[in-house]
Amino acid sequence: MPITSGAALSSPLPDPPPGAAGVLTVDLTAIAANWRLLAAKVGPGCRCAAVVKADGYGLGAAPVTRALIEAGCRRFFVATIGEGIALAEALADRPDIAIAVLDGPNPGAVGEMLAHRLIPVLNEPGQVKAWLAVAPDRPAMLQLDSGLSRLGLSAPELQALSDDGTLKGLRLEAAISHLACSDTPAHPMNADQRRHFEAMARHLPGVPLSLAASSGIFLGPDFHYDMVRPGAALWGLNPTPDAPNPMQAVVGLRARIIQVLEVASGSRVGYGATYTAPGPRRLATIAVGYADGIPRAAGNRAKAHLGGHRIAVVGRISMDLTTLDVTGLPDEDVQPGRFVDLIGPDYGADDLARDGDTIGYEILTRLSRRLHRSYLA
Ligand SMILES: *Cc1c(COP(=O)(O)O)cnc(C)c1O
Repeated sequence: MPITSGAALSSPLPDPPPGAAGVLTVDLTAIAANWRLLAAKVGPGCRCAAVVKADGYGLGAAPVTRALIEAGCRRFFVATIGEGIALAEALADRPDIAIAVLDGPNPGAVGEMLAHRLIPVLNEPGQVKAWLAVAPDRPAMLQLDSGLSRLGLSAPELQALSDDGTLKGLRLEAAISHLACSDTPAHPMNADQRRHFEAMARHLPGVPLSLAASSGIFLGPDFHYDMVRPGAALWGLNPTPDAPNPMQAVVGLRARIIQVLEVASGSRVGYGATYTAPGPRRLATIAVGYADGIPRAAGNRAKAHLGGHRIAVVGRISMDLTTLDVTGLPDEDVQPGRFVDLIGPDYGADDLARDGDTIGYEILTRLSRRLHRSYLA
């Protein structure tokens, strides 16, 4: 597996407050550059929206959305109505910005969605009918299930809504579908889903179409249609896992050294004593753990960086603490209060994910609220 961290953060890191233990740095300039790269890739005939669900993949929906608006993005997707309301309230000064809700309207929530100008993605016949009963003249999107079998109308459901005239009553801004295997370009599902999507879209003449998220954009122009919906790539995750990362790095995670220890050969480290020092070692314990979103599965596997040196996590990750082997590093680097990089230009969220048996998406969305957040603009 290649290292997938992308280019360096675009600005020097500011000093965190003296009380901060773990610090999450979000490079808003890099997010804007990533959006522009994707928008240029799909070209002027295709809109580039942005998906900022799960609080902007854990990075803060409001600040990342502001940065994307400045870059030129005008359409945003969230997952839930609650996320949509929070974002609409944060953007009260921008009535020109469209916010779509992927989960669609819960029964009884249509009024609340209208009050906040949220655009529902209508996923199943009940949602279509509930929306039509209350707000036929307000914009909506339709989701079609082209093969992911998660959300969206099936072909027979779409046919029925076409036959009984329901579809004609909707004011559709887009028909969307979602790919199952877009990070595996050779997977036959990609072409299958494209074929199903186009067959279903024949019931919706003139409605703009949208199929691709981050990785789908890199499957080529056949997958772009009228709008693309990237999320992950905007935050620097690699949309092309088998090739070098085309995106700029966005996320940094640093934590302070609390204590430096000299241990003798044969010393055990951490819960379960899963690491035994093979000789005299110098260790540093830092102030983040699995409660901050460091996967517990990354014990004895994850890497970190200090003063340009790559160092190893030793022993299990604790709730609030992680121990590193800093043997041989210069004394001036290994001091209580110094920051160690857990996610950075040399070891990205995708790398930590690989060493923690997960994906970069899960790393970002699980970064804890306890981390001090620092935005670079
Ligand atoms: C999350 C999501 C996206 C964005 O996916 P990325 O892989 O993060 O780019 C797009 N569309 C739908 C329907 C989603 O659920």
